[in-house]
Amino acid sequence: MATSSTTSTVPSIADRFDRARRDIDRALRIAGRPPGATTLTAVSKTRADAEIEAALAAGQRVFGENRVQEAQRRWAGRRDVAGLELRLIGPLQTNKAADALALFDVIETLDRDRLADALARAADGAGRAPRVLVQVNTGEEEQKAGVAPRQADALIAHARSLGLAVEGLMAIPPAAEEPAPHFALLARIAARNGLETLSMGMSGDFETAIRFGATHVRLGTALFGPREA
Ligand SMILES: *Cc1c(COP(=O)(O)O)cnc(C)c1O
Repeated sequence: MATSSTTSTVPSIADRFDRARRDIDRALRIAGRPPGATTLTAVSKTRADAEIEAALAAGQRVFGENRVQEAQRRWAGRRDVAGLELRLIGPLQTNKAADALALFDVIETLDRDRLADALARAADGAGRAPRVLVQVNTGEEEQKAGVAPRQADALIAHARSLGLAVEGLMAIPPAAEEPAPHFALLARIAARNGLETLSMGMSGDFETAIRFGATHVRLGTALFGPREA
């Protein structure tokens, strides 16, 4: 009965991962894209140790985090898990570029020339080049990070001139708008710059993102349940 809510009605994290993987596979099939063409990034920000362990036990290896220090606390002791890939999906301050480079495999939020400069300097110091995505503010929202769409080509060119390996683009569409035009815009900017990776789509809109070519969808609540503020 709906009123006698018990833990048996709450799906486990393993169940949620199964379900998300099936949903991704189905969206790929509908889009006529090959199986495996979209990678599931599990957004583990704010999650407790037990939830991380459950995700790892479910076979998940690609995780997204939005703060450098929080991610250091959560992942430092787990950095040697085989196949683990950590992706930074939140804004990065230039003074944290070296810390981010040390922890993350991929930085998805390059959004300005000065950050590209800082990452290139940090890469020189570390002797290791970061893999990066350029974040595009497709809705040109003032409060949101990301380069404006019309400035994206110049930022990509600048990052490449510094020797940074730009793999693709990332975007977070405005919450109150239809996401499809934003996904389409991101795909167009990627295509004209010869970029393959498209990180777009979250729990509420990942199937649409897959239709528009997402290679990475970033799911938090669909996998772990609601976040506590
Ligand atoms: C938190 C976050 C997500 C996950 O959002 P859900 O709606 O919980 O799936 C995805 N991308 C970014 C950049 C985030 O900060």
